[in-house]
Amino acid sequence: MDEAQRRACESYVAGLFAPEDEVLADLRRAMKESGLPEIFISPEEGRLLQVLLKSIGARKVVELGTLGGYSAIWMARALPEDGLLISIEREELRADLARRYLVRAGVSDRVQVRVGEARELLERIEVDGPFDAVFIDADKLSYPAYLDWAQANIRRGGLVIADNAFQEGGVLEAESDDPDILGIQEFNRRVATDPRLTSIVVPTRDGVAIALVN
Ligand code: MG
Repeated sequence: MDEAQRRACESYVAGLFAPEDEVLADLRRAMKESGLPEIFISPEEGRLLQVLLKSIGARKVVELGTLGGYSAIWMARALPEDGLLISIEREELRADLARRYLVRAGVSDRVQVRVGEARELLERIEVDGPFDAVFIDADKLSYPAYLDWAQANIRRGGLVIADNAFQEGGVLEAESDDPDILGIQEFNRRVATDPRLTSIVVPTRDGVAIALVN
């Protein structure tokens, strides 16, 4: 299968398994128009998150890196009515956009978007834990620190999920001094080898790491 066929298969999967509704499609356009970086997850990755969260009966989930709320909508829709997604974002403008679309998507009752530095906010929400899952999609440099937090605050049988496990191919560099690449490489090494985790990277667009807490 060549590259074009692989992309066509991705579109086939997205169309069959993960069609966007009007809200998600509008949000995708709004994010582009407001000049947000086009780094949000794909519809099929959104669906993957839903399958994962439902498979563990997730009720309480943390997201690092809300951006425009695209992934938050996908995840919130996989939670029960009394579920809670705490989504952490550094930039107020992004959080505002996300909140508007979470309302439109009908899930604002189960999503809290909190603005600030992730490490600080993570410390503050520990009292609400343990959590069922965390989706890490924020600054790559901090992935190892986020993994530390996750291992202390995700329940047994819960999931640590992380986007950009390939860092655009950067993980293949043997002697990188790019702190983002180093962060992802360390994260991958740890989730791959820690006996307390059962892990894999699913080779979606930029790779999604999935680690089950044993
Ligand atoms: Mg990402």
